[in-house]
Amino acid sequence: MQYTEIMVRYGELSTKGKNRRDFINRLFGNTMKALQAFPALQIHAKRDRLHIILNGEDSQAVMAKLGLVFGIQNYSPTIRVERDMNAVRQTAIAMLKEQVQQGATFKVNTRRADHNFEMDTNEINADLGDIILNAIPELTVQMHKPDITLRVEVRLDGIYLSSQTILGAGGLPVGTAGRGMLMLSGGIDSPVAGYLAMKRGVDLQMVHFFSPPYTSEKALAKAKELTAKIAPYAGSIQFIEVPFTKIQEEIKNKVPEGYLMTIQRRMMLRITDKIREMHHGLAIFNGESLGQVASQTMQSMAAINDVTTTPILRPVISMDKNEIIKIAEDIDTFDLSVMPFEDCCTIFAPPAPKTHPNMEKTRNYEKLIDVEGLMAESIAGIKTSEIRPDQHFLEQDQAEIADLL
Ligand code: ATP
Ligand code: MG
Repeated sequence: MQYTEIMVRYGELSTKGKNRRDFINRLFGNTMKALQAFPALQIHAKRDRLHIILNGEDSQAVMAKLGLVFGIQNYSPTIRVERDMNAVRQTAIAMLKEQVQQGATFKVNTRRADHNFEMDTNEINADLGDIILNAIPELTVQMHKPDITLRVEVRLDGIYLSSQTILGAGGLPVGTAGRGMLMLSGGIDSPVAGYLAMKRGVDLQMVHFFSPPYTSEKALAKAKELTAKIAPYAGSIQFIEVPFTKIQEEIKNKVPEGYLMTIQRRMMLRITDKIREMHHGLAIFNGESLGQVASQTMQSMAAINDVTTTPILRPVISMDKNEIIKIAEDIDTFDLSVMPFEDCCTIFAPPAPKTHPNMEKTRNYEKLIDVEGLMAESIAGIKTSEIRPDQHFLEQDQAEIADLL
């Protein structure tokens, strides 16, 4: 079917009162960015909908990209015809013929924005219902919960027909919530936490700690590859890599073993908070899930969180591992996350980290290292890059692993 436009319905944002303008502008900008590969498109943002005029572009390809834009509740591929009932009838039949495999019952639902049109909504519903029943004998009319609803809209500039409503990504447009930093490891949880944060409108930047030569170039590449995987939801994502070797060595040399992990995490959080401040972020996100490992007990989180009053938001805090994995599979980060490259937190991991670190001891042991000096040195070594969805950092390794499977 040669559709002429995609009609996009907003999600929650339509209830946001005076912020509505900002939401619609963001959604419009984000949609433009997501669809920049289709130069012929014209996009119009209206009060309650976005109209994407296809001008010959492939509707399936456009809809595949639209499905990644947060803030879109659902969308319908639509055909515009002249204000002529014969044209409407022909298009309605062609459209429903393509839909017959979706089910056997249908109804026609007409709306008129133009009340001067020669027929009213009941007349149009009845007229189209009759000719569809005649043309497609497999179909029967059902008013309550039909398999197919043919939507007809009479407007001043034409009549619009659609018969499919496709679920969008939901959530809120990226950017409407402000900026946040994600502590991104190479694991399963933090990319999922990042996806969920973006879904609530956060303009996310990645902060990744690495410790060469203890961690390989590949561990860093993996974190970048994960960033590229979720970049389609934002257009592109800033990736901030932080050297952590010296801090880990100092902690290893000076701090009692049971507190290595807690103090490492405090240093990570302090540095992330500093970067957040420099980048005008409002909060820090991580992939912690309560009780999953030693650092993720409430006592441990309290001891780590002690270094800042910045909100630390944990989108997967109450999820079971299986629930997190399900999302990781849906957003296609799982296979990457399970690639076996050492993370900087595992290399100096003590055999028995404290699951209930004592706050006073934590603070005292931390005095054994030069917190300020180490932080400054690490921050001076930061590298920042912008990662786009089409970038790859681990192609070779992924191909090799695919061959092994
Ligand atoms: P993940 O699957 O996200 O790695 P995890 O269950 O393996 O999580 P940890 O490795 O203990 O848990 O890490 C807890 C959180 O700390 C991560 O979700 C992430 O937000 C942050 N984190 C861990 N390692 C790094 C790192 N190298 N750089 C930045 N943040 C990190
Ligand atoms: Mg991890």
